[in-house]
Amino acid sequence: MIDFDSFLKEYREKLANIFKKEHETNSDALDRGICQESLSTILSSKPLAAFIEREHGGFGGHTGEALSMLEASSYESLPLSLMMGINGALFLQPLANYGSDEAKKEVFDRVINQGKMGGLMITEPDYGSEALKMQTSVQFNPNEQYYAVKGTKHWAGLTGMADYWIMTAREKNGQGELTRDISFFVHDSRKGGIEVEEYYNNLGLYMLPYGRNQVDIKVPESHKLQPKGTGITLMLDLLHRSRLQFPGMGMGFLRRMMDEAMTHCRERLVGGINLLSYDQVRSRVSKIQSYFTVCSAMCNFTATNVPLKHNTAKMDVEANAIKSVLTDYMQKASQSLLQLTGAKGYRLDHIAGRSTVDSRPFQIFEGSNDILYQQITESIMKAMRKMKNANLYEFLKDYHLTTNASDYFKEVLNFELDTKMPQRKLVELGQALGRIISMEFTLKLGEQGFNKQLIEQAIINVQDEVTSILTQFKTTKLSDVVDYYQEESSWFSLQKQPAI
Ligand SMILES: Cc1cc2nc3c(=O)[nH]c(=O)nc-3n(C[C@H](O)[C@H](O)[C@H](O)COP(=O)(O)OP(=O)(O)OC[C@H]3O[C@@H](n4cnc5c(N)ncnc54)[C@H](O)[C@@H]3O)c2cc1C
Repeated sequence: MIDFDSFLKEYREKLANIFKKEHETNSDALDRGICQESLSTILSSKPLAAFIEREHGGFGGHTGEALSMLEASSYESLPLSLMMGINGALFLQPLANYGSDEAKKEVFDRVINQGKMGGLMITEPDYGSEALKMQTSVQFNPNEQYYAVKGTKHWAGLTGMADYWIMTAREKNGQGELTRDISFFVHDSRKGGIEVEEYYNNLGLYMLPYGRNQVDIKVPESHKLQPKGTGITLMLDLLHRSRLQFPGMGMGFLRRMMDEAMTHCRERLVGGINLLSYDQVRSRVSKIQSYFTVCSAMCNFTATNVPLKHNTAKMDVEANAIKSVLTDYMQKASQSLLQLTGAKGYRLDHIAGRSTVDSRPFQIFEGSNDILYQQITESIMKAMRKMKNANLYEFLKDYHLTTNASDYFKEVLNFELDTKMPQRKLVELGQALGRIISMEFTLKLGEQGFNKQLIEQAIINVQDEVTSILTQFKTTKLSDVVDYYQEESSWFSLQKQPAI
């Protein structure tokens, strides 16, 4: 096996060729799926080996390497990077940490040497954000020694395409009722039992198939994942590890947004000068550069602090902050690029238009950002109660994820937190906290020698953002939904009859 650096070089070149050719022939943007030839060429470089330990034939399972493979993928194609990310964080890594030797040996070998892929099924039509209430059930058959799993799952990435699935279900007790804990199983698609009832017309991410599946499978005992505590803790470890690795997918994407924005704004002349000469344009491009810098800092954090074997179940604040702030930045960067490229960008086959629809669901899946921001605030408030400290600045200056960054916000943070606040305020505060934590990572990256100017500009932009979020947070008037909005709400009926 070649070394990782040689792999990465070859992989980058290969992707650049494939996607350049597809763009020139306009064959990628409007087609769903990925052509078999391109997929086989990509997988022949063995990118998924970046997630697998050396003893199983991989590059070693080093987090930094996995992130740089995701980065190389997302520079060329965000959907491709998501495909790799799904395989890594939602399938191979949970298998590495919780699977039996028998399952690992067989699966890793086929993934590396035969280009096989895997995904994860959690979401159900009636239970998305509330995944713990899933209705898919599992019962053990003691005579034949297998688990029977039945239910309906939807929106799993690689629907109808994955060779393996990690399937989630709740066990039934003696009375036939579903118990609280979640169990995880590795299912080999060759055994059948997962029928795609409908393929969805997803708005973006055309490369990835999604749909609704009827599940009725039998899984041998050896293919049940073995949690070290409860299944719910396993699920937390799985989801947090995945969220912590989102910056790998964000990294290449944001670098691409930055490259595209800089090139376009240097070349496009409006009013006799290039776009980059306009102050408003410079503000937009500067923000895209800051998103790039903050994402680099997040990669640095995850690569350093999240080795494969480290249990991330308790890293809720780090994981939720990284996932929600980064995915907001990805969407904002693509929206800005679309604005800057004008009508040209509003084409599904233009990088700006495509990136806008492709990055949007990152704010929804693996924890809706609204919910994650609320959870960040709740975790911080819990820690504040424990420390018996009600002043936000006083707490954050001693908190391990905000020690240095909090100094940049001393004035706006210096207040007593009333813990009884409406949900929207929990969300707003979470948005601010997530960005302050991201600033901490950015300061750390700066200390390590990253481009000084990029760090300085990122600090200005994040400071600006946090200050404006906290100003909004401190306003007390709360708008509310008008239930009977149809009454007297037609402007036209209020028009005076024209005089005859
Ligand atoms: C492109 C894409 C890829 C996906 N990939 C996978 C996958 O590989 N495997 C898998 O299992 N699933 C996957 N999903 C499913 C995804 O994880 C769910 O869509 C997500 O968990 C949200 O569930 P839901 O769609 O049922 O929305 P709901 O749970 O109905 O939530 C919708 C919205 O309601 C609001 N909301 C919900 N609860 C609250 C609350 N408590 N407080 C305030 N607001 C709230 C939020 O704005 C939320 O975004 C994917 C989805 C998409 C779009």
